[in-house]
Parts: sequence; C-alpha cells; structure tokens
Amino acid sequence: MAAPSMGGVSLPRGNGQTVRLPRGASLTDLAEKIGAQPAALVTALFHLGEMVTATQSVNDETLQLLGAEIDWDIQVVSPEDEDRELLETFDLTFGDEGDEEDWEARPPVVTVMGHVDHGKTKLLDAIRNTNVVAREAGGITQHIGAYQIVTELEDDERPITFIDTPGHESFTAMRARGAKVTDIVVLVVAADDGVMPQTVEALNHAQAAEVPIVVAVNKIDKEGANPAKIRQQLTEYGLVAEEYGGDTMFVDVSATTRQGIDELLTAILLTADASLDLRANTQQDPQGVVIEGKLDKGRGPVATVLVQRGTLRQGDSIVAGDAYGRVRSLLDEHGNKLKEALPARPVQVVGLTSVPRAGDTFLVVEEDRVARQIADRRQARIRNAQNASMRKRISLEDLDAALKENRQLNLIIKGDNSGTVEALEEALMKIEVSDDISLRVIHRGVGGITKSDIDLALADDVIVLGFNVRAEGQATELANREGVDVRYYSVIYQAIEEIEAALKGMLKPEYEEVALGTAEVREVFRVPRIGNVAGSIVRSGTITRNSKARLVRDGVVVADNLTVESLRRFKDDVTEVRDGYECGIGLGSFNDIKIEDVIETFEMREKPRA
Ligand code: GDP
Repeated sequence: MAAPSMGGVSLPRGNGQTVRLPRGASLTDLAEKIGAQPAALVTALFHLGEMVTATQSVNDETLQLLGAEIDWDIQVVSPEDEDRELLETFDLTFGDEGDEEDWEARPPVVTVMGHVDHGKTKLLDAIRNTNVVAREAGGITQHIGAYQIVTELEDDERPITFIDTPGHESFTAMRARGAKVTDIVVLVVAADDGVMPQTVEALNHAQAAEVPIVVAVNKIDKEGANPAKIRQQLTEYGLVAEEYGGDTMFVDVSATTRQGIDELLTAILLTADASLDLRANTQQDPQGVVIEGKLDKGRGPVATVLVQRGTLRQGDSIVAGDAYGRVRSLLDEHGNKLKEALPARPVQVVGLTSVPRAGDTFLVVEEDRVARQIADRRQARIRNAQNASMRKRISLEDLDAALKENRQLNLIIKGDNSGTVEALEEALMKIEVSDDISLRVIHRGVGGITKSDIDLALADDVIVLGFNVRAEGQATELANREGVDVRYYSVIYQAIEEIEAALKGMLKPEYEEVALGTAEVREVFRVPRIGNVAGSIVRSGTITRNSKARLVRDGVVVADNLTVESLRRFKDDVTEVRDGYECGIGLGSFNDIKIEDVIETFEMREKPRA
C-alpha cells in the first residue's frame, strides 16, 4: 500500500510497531525515531486538531493519538522507568530486598518545615544541641545537610535523623526528583504569629506526600504567644490536636529557651511508633539518597547521603546519580570517621569522582566497573535531557507550549527590597491581554534568586524575575541545567514590557479559512500506481499545488482534509493553474472522484490580532 500522505509529505506507517520515547518528547524526537519529516508530523497532528511546533514538548496523550493515526504504538517512558531499566540491565533494583521478617527497626527521618521566621533554623539548632552523644563527643557539629541525635524514650536510647535544610526546599527538591526521604514532618508555627501562607504550603506538601505531621508551636516564650489559637487555626486544615480529640501531636516549644524540646522529640518518636513501621534490611547492598553535594577544596567531591537500606562501608563501590567512585571515607556530622553507616544514618561520603545532586539515589555495586558504566549512561541521558529541556522548559520565547492547557503565566519575583517587589508585582498584575490568559505570582521575596526558587520554578513551569538581584551560585547552575528561564531587570517598565509582549505571544493564534480556488471535474483518469486524477477546469481563483482541498458533490462535502498532491497541465507538473484553464488534479490516496464533482482549495491563514 502506498504511504498515506498528509500535507504533501509522506509518513512512514508503523504497522503497529512499537516506538519508545522519553516523557516530554517533541515531534522532532519522534520523527527521528521513525524516520519521518518533523513537518509531516506537525501537519498530521494539525489534522487531528492539535497545533504544536516541531520542537515543542508534547504530552503523552497527544503522542499516543498521533501514534494511533500513523499506526505506531508509542510508549512513553518516564525518566524513572528509564533508570529502572538501566539498572535492570545490570541486574540491579533500587528498593528493599529480602524477607520483611529479617528487617531491623530504623530511626525516623524528620524534615522541619514552616513559615519563614517561625524558627525552623533555630529549632534545628536547639535540637542538635540537646544531643547527648554530641555533648559526650565534645565535638562541634558541622552542617552536612542532615544529622542524627539520640534521645531517651522509656529508658531506650532512640536515634532520630533530622534533615538539616530547613524549609520546603529540600523536601520539594527531593520529591520533585522522586525520592522519598522524610518519614515525619515537624511543622513549626510561631505562637505569636499564627498560620501563614508557607505554613499552609508546608502542610499541603506533607499531606500530599502522606507524611505524618507533628506540630511544634514555637516561640511560646514570647509575649503575646497564643498556642491555643494555633491549635484552633490548624483544625481548619485537618490537623486536630490530640487534646481536642484529633490524632496530631502539638508540642509547645521555645527554640530560644529550649523549653519543650524533649517533649517534641518524644512526640516525634510516638508518632513514628503509632503510625509508621520503620524497618529496613541492613544486610542487602546499601542504597539511599543524596542529601547534599559539594566540592571541597581539599577532599574533592563530598556528598552527604542518607542510607535507606543496607550498611554502607568504607571501600564500597558506589554510584550516586551520575557520580561514582569508591568510598574512601565515611564521616558523621561531628567529623568522626565511621566504619559503617546503618539505615537512616546521614554520612558524608568522600571518594566520588564528581558531585551528585540532592535527591539523586545512590547504590552500592559489586564492581567499580559497573558503577562507572551506570554513571556514564546516566550522564549521557542527562546530556540528552538537557538538550531537550533547553527547548522544553518554558521560556518567554516559547510560552505557548507550557500554557496550552492552563493559560496562565506563573512568575516568581525576587527583588532587592520589598518595595520594588511589591511595585513590580502590582504593575504586572495590571497587565491585561485577554480574558483567557492570567498571570500568577506564585512566590515573591527579597534577596537573591536561590536554589529553592529554582526548585519551585521547576515544579510548576515558572519564569523567574530578578529585579536588581542575581541568582546565587548553585541556583544559576541548576537553572541552566534544567533550562529555567531567569530574567534580570533593573527598570520596572522594561520588565512589564517584556512580560506583556510574552503574554500577547501566548494568545492562541486564530486561523481562518481563505478560499483559493475551485475546479470542476470533467473527466477521471486512472493512472497506474498513482490512482485517480481529476481532469478539471478551474472555475474560480487559482488551484495551487500542496494547498488544502475538499471535494464537493451535489453541494455536499464528500471529503475534507485533502491536499492537492499533484497538479499538471498536459504532461507538465505545474505549481498553479488559473481560472479558465484545464488541468489534472491528484488528491493523493483519495480516489473517490466523479465527473461534475467540485474541488475547492483553501488555506488556513493566521488572523492578525487587533
Ligand atoms: P526560620 O526562617 O524559620 O528558619 O526562622 P529562624 O530560625 O531564622 O528564626 C527567626 C527569628 O525568630 C530569629 O530571630 C530567631 O532568633 C527567632 N526565634 C526563633 N525561635 C524563637 C523562640 O522560640 N523564641 C523567640 N523569642 N525567638 C525565636
């Protein structure tokens, strides 16, 4: 059978063959895999009612719809699946192994979240300083991204691990990358302030991840502190204190006076014991998640990892994200060398060849060679994805893509002082382009653009505006790597102009049909291997090769979506034939042509905007 054609370019039919594409692939990616012209796929999709550009990221459903049309079975593979398959080729899996019976209890891993200035950092410090072990070791704890303390509960010494990056940053960054690290969230609410936007945001994050919450009502030492009000306010969000018959533990604390810290630790353990069965296999090959990575001047790449299962030891061959190496030394948060690290233990790993990213998983493998091969393959994939994301992530130039479904432009505004940030936001919100496009500022703040801003931008497809501020080191790197659009301004009207122009560009183009010509069929020729050709006379306008066409019989449209695939005058191929002249019109694989049919040709023209 002849290849069906669309828009004058033929498409290779798949006859049900399977083609695998990474999530977020573009028509160009698909075209490459099936040996088609990207433009032909764009046209094919247009006929199916979807307007996309060749390099735009296309969602799963659309890819499949197109696949069905051209008879390819398109399988969309998520990055997680791709990585799983990569590991499978080495006979590895990321996850628990063995019989649950043999697993051992492990400490809970806690993340502290809450509104800015409610005392997250101070509370993490206070908890660190209550640590019996640290005091005995006499060591000053260093910031390595996580720490473990030991507390007493009913005469048992119970360790608890805290992720030492307060805020939603680490939590969202990890979650965005598919890593589940946190067992319990401590939600800090200042008793002299109350439930604030980020309190709610934190709560939503925790609830979405189905992580139990312990509420630390902080700053109870302060005048005007009203812990009862906090309990009252939080009931609205489904957090009902135990003393009111709910199942959430609320603890009144002061990070300054350290009042209530022990009770908070107890509440964490009780919550863990009541609602979680935290156990891990200590015998399998060690695995876990990278909490933090940095380049140390003296020691080279250093990563803080959280062991999730197995027992990590010095000398292990390890692959973490796209970094690999042999564990040269394991250090705890006091700088002590460890021989091994059990599940829920955060440790610094020295010996990697490069710096992995927070949220990367790590695995220990049998041989250095395997670690290296996995790392290499991941690097290649990251490079590919990077190339793709450069065009996929939203940018002012290519807004239409991300906003196809919800026509909304999300912004993060950072500025050098709150006055300018407010002024800019206010001015931006006044921009009016059209009813079906809205502008939303999802986050604003004073100060440089941080990694957490970029993380937030990543989760939501957002443009980040910096007014008289710049992105901080790691943030720039992350933004570049993930292709987040960060824009800098120092004049308000310039920012407004650019955003306004972008919003105008976002408006869906409107198309209108423009009639080009009509031709009446006088005779039908059967041409071997080509099919039927309509011997016609042009009755109005011009018939142009490659223009769109429809066939009308007795005033009824018999076929739409046709293309003038061939156009001849006598023996010659021509590009157009005018009013009054005779010609032969071929409509591709469409053969149902009869004498006296009328062929109408037209084109879709973009309507200029007012
Ligand atoms: P974060 O933004 O949530 O990390 O908040 P910080 O830990 O930086 O604390 C914000 C401010 O509140 C700092 O000035 C702290 O000293 C202060 N603060 C934190 N906890 C307490 C507390 O329990 N009592 C009092 N009086 N001040 C506190």
